[in-house]
Amino acid sequence: MKKYVFPVLLLAVFTAVGVTLWLTKDNLFYLFNFGYIGLSVSLGIFLYIRKYKHARRVVQLLVGLYMLVYLGFIKGENMQIEGFWYYLFTGVFEAATIHYAVAKLFGPLLFGRGWCGYACWTAMVLDFLPYKTPAGPRKKLGWIRYITFAASLVFVAALFLAKVGNIERIMFWAFLIGNALYYAVGILLAFAFKDNRAFCKYVCPITVFLKPMSYFSLVRVRCDPAKCVDCGKCRRVCPMDVDVTDPSRKRKNGTECILCMECVKNCPKDAL
Ligand code: SF4
Ligand code: SF4
Ligand code: SF4
Repeated sequence: MKKYVFPVLLLAVFTAVGVTLWLTKDNLFYLFNFGYIGLSVSLGIFLYIRKYKHARRVVQLLVGLYMLVYLGFIKGENMQIEGFWYYLFTGVFEAATIHYAVAKLFGPLLFGRGWCGYACWTAMVLDFLPYKTPAGPRKKLGWIRYITFAASLVFVAALFLAKVGNIERIMFWAFLIGNALYYAVGILLAFAFKDNRAFCKYVCPITVFLKPMSYFSLVRVRCDPAKCVDCGKCRRVCPMDVDVTDPSRKRKNGTECILCMECVKNCPKDAL
């Protein structure tokens, strides 16, 4: 039973966040929201412990679809980075700002880029593509993320500076068009580079937050050098080109780890 303590603990943490926000913001939605996400993540970990092959994909679909369809399409929340800037500029601490604070700014100090492995609705689709492990070495294109990051900030700032009316409506359309664009570019890059996660590696603006924060992550995959025989299998199956055999935080592509556990599942010596 000891192995199930972690998913139970995680559910308790999510519920505690939900209850706190429910009481402080007097809005029951937060309990539903964090309760649902906590349940989905805990279910995924439970399935992983039970060695179910598609455990991560189950969480990705449960959380990703909830965010995209329910919060985005139905509730009209722009949960992309533009929505974060928008709510930040308006000074409203609502869904998108809370979402960014929990999943992308402070959460990564605890669970690294777990968001990218288990919840992102862009990667939810990209992970269905055929190139689960990259066919070639990583390209030196990471600078593109700073351009997309700046573009998103400039776009929202310009709307405010120009005092454009009905920004809320524009943000909803920005969410729809932005998502369609992300999917199109993500799929194109995946086929061009034979790498499902090419969009994550080179274009995604959110990594500007995620990478530095996840450097300090409490949850990490660590290698036991006493067990490792340096067969290299973990590096070959990693979708993000992480050198997981290096236990230090400065390991190659360390801030790219999405905690997908492919390396752990494939290590023949249980060294991870
Ligand atoms: S890098 Fe961006 S697109 Fe990729 S999984 Fe993370 S948040 Fe999603
Ligand atoms: S797969 Fe395991 S044994 Fe092989 S290099 Fe990686 S950690 Fe070491
Ligand atoms: S395979 Fe291992 S090192 Fe690579 S992203 Fe997944 S968990 Fe991280």
